[in-house]
Amino acid sequence: MVMVAMLLAVAPMKTAAVEEALVAVHGEAQRARVERGVRQVAALWRPTDGDLHAFCTAQFIAEPARLAMLLRRFEENLEQLDGHLLEIGRELRRPTDLEVGTVENVDRLFAAYDPAAHLVDDLFESKLAFVALLNFPSSRLDERLAEGPTWSRDQWAAARLTGRFARRVPADVQQGITAAQAAAELYIAEYNVWMHHVLSAEGARQFPSGKRLISHWNLRDELKANYADPQGLSKQRTIVRVMERIVTQTIPWAVIDNPHLDWNPFTNAVVPAAAESVEADAPKRAATPSGAKEPDVRYQRLLANALAQRKADPYSPMARSPIDRAFAMGAELPEARVRELLLSVLTSPQAAKVAAEIRRRLGRPLEPADLWYNGFLPRGRIAEAELDAKVRSRYPTADAFAKDIPRILTELGFAAERVKHLSERIKVDASRGAGHALQAARRGDFPRLRTRIEPGGMNAKGYNIAVHELGHNVEQVLSLYDVDHTLLSGVPNTAFTEAIAFVFQARDLELLGLGKPTPEDERLRVLNDFWSTWEIAGVALVDLDVWHWMMEHPRATPAQLRDATVRIATQTWREHYAPLLGGVDTPLLGIYSHMISYPLYLFNYPLGHLISFQIEEQLQRAGAIGPELERMAVQGAVSPDLWMTGAAGGPVSSAPLLRATEAALAK
Ligand SMILES: [Zn+2]
Repeated sequence: MVMVAMLLAVAPMKTAAVEEALVAVHGEAQRARVERGVRQVAALWRPTDGDLHAFCTAQFIAEPARLAMLLRRFEENLEQLDGHLLEIGRELRRPTDLEVGTVENVDRLFAAYDPAAHLVDDLFESKLAFVALLNFPSSRLDERLAEGPTWSRDQWAAARLTGRFARRVPADVQQGITAAQAAAELYIAEYNVWMHHVLSAEGARQFPSGKRLISHWNLRDELKANYADPQGLSKQRTIVRVMERIVTQTIPWAVIDNPHLDWNPFTNAVVPAAAESVEADAPKRAATPSGAKEPDVRYQRLLANALAQRKADPYSPMARSPIDRAFAMGAELPEARVRELLLSVLTSPQAAKVAAEIRRRLGRPLEPADLWYNGFLPRGRIAEAELDAKVRSRYPTADAFAKDIPRILTELGFAAERVKHLSERIKVDASRGAGHALQAARRGDFPRLRTRIEPGGMNAKGYNIAVHELGHNVEQVLSLYDVDHTLLSGVPNTAFTEAIAFVFQARDLELLGLGKPTPEDERLRVLNDFWSTWEIAGVALVDLDVWHWMMEHPRATPAQLRDATVRIATQTWREHYAPLLGGVDTPLLGIYSHMISYPLYLFNYPLGHLISFQIEEQLQRAGAIGPELERMAVQGAVSPDLWMTGAAGGPVSSAPLLRATEAALAK
């Protein structure tokens, strides 16, 4: 059955007879619509769906008024489906997401259950997806980019409708993708390094007992924290060596998540750890030293992800490879343009100037570890304890924060009537986690601001997050309630809502009445953001190049993929990083865990930085935050370039980041 379906999807069934019959009924003027619609349906039709001819005859609509009605029906009904399913999921997760008493074991099972998981499958099964595909055009990314700027809002709404049905992946293929991804995530989740047992080049212990760091996030954050330590450089070099060993898979297999062994990553020697040095909470692992290297598991997992995703290619007529889908359906920017944006940061003259400023601040030549330099982050002007006390007394409960939202929005420049509109639609809950914003998907339901309230009240960290989440909530209300089509609710992609959230977050102290950031704080923030963008741009390029290599070498072994990854990472380093940071042959750029567990996602981070700067530059130009954000958000989920052109007068660009950096360097 699966084989038959695959063959049909690869070579769509012959549709000429159906097309001629429909043209005979509806007239020659409908030919183009008929051909496009019938072929869109046939590309995803399975034998079990029944009689294609009968379906098309019954459901094709030619009259403009009835077509408009059809679009409206889908819009209204999908809003109900999406909105209510989201609410059900939210309520099932109440006990695990909110501070509402003990979490029972069964609550975790309810939380893992997603009532919307099979919605798209169900819409195909019930033929509703096919009605949409028969009557409204699907578009490839290049078509949306070329024609989108001239489309009406109705045409955009129709494009978003058919976009939901751009692929129909069979259950077994989808399960394969999910399983490969879950295996990769588990591999990464257990990839811990016990730092007390990682020795310096001279064989000395440098890290405290109990420090267990997951790759790469904790390793990188520890490296950053080491800038505050006079002995930091030696630790940073050790961490870099650990990272390189992970990328090249020369790390001894036995030392991963194993504090029973001491490891020198410079010599790769492994010896039993002295009993008194082993942590009390150490996992049970062999204490017999072995230098046998990790057997390329990192690259087995990556290959498995790629192979599983390729199996979905035949069922995705608008984007026939995982890379195409990441750009066409995820970012909605062509890969060539994303690469250009990344390279414009990597090759910018600002990079060398910022590096020179870091060199001055550190008083030494730069090294590969300085890829993660974080010394630009301004030291807090107000002591953390003082800030905690201030926030705690102001926000003893989640409700106290909710009551203050109208004042916050007023200070951000929203008009009185909009303040009322927004604050009435944002509901605040006390969360178990650090905080998050949960959107709503139907009018009549409300976005949730989840914020962490410690026993005596909110602390400074929680407040900073809450202000960030409030930015998401404001965008969520505007792009659901105030957009003209709910099929267009939301933003082009997550980078846009993050950018709006950062606009709020950057003003958190100001909103507490503690004054604006000083010009020097601002200057340092810009330099820090530039350096982060420069760093992650190279990481993202490596991820893309590795995926292209996998597509070109479908029968590669994990060892071959390892060699290719090391080669790509090293070349990228040599070209863009070695001139400023030295370390000619380091494969450091291959360390990100996203490469293994979040395939083809990394390029979204540098894009996010660029979009943030572009929005922030526009807000400063306009001189008003509230009304300007509102004007931007009500555009809804059109393509990123179109949204940005409406918001800031031009497509997504690195120019605002580079301009801000240049200005910061000149100060
Ligand atoms: Zn966020």
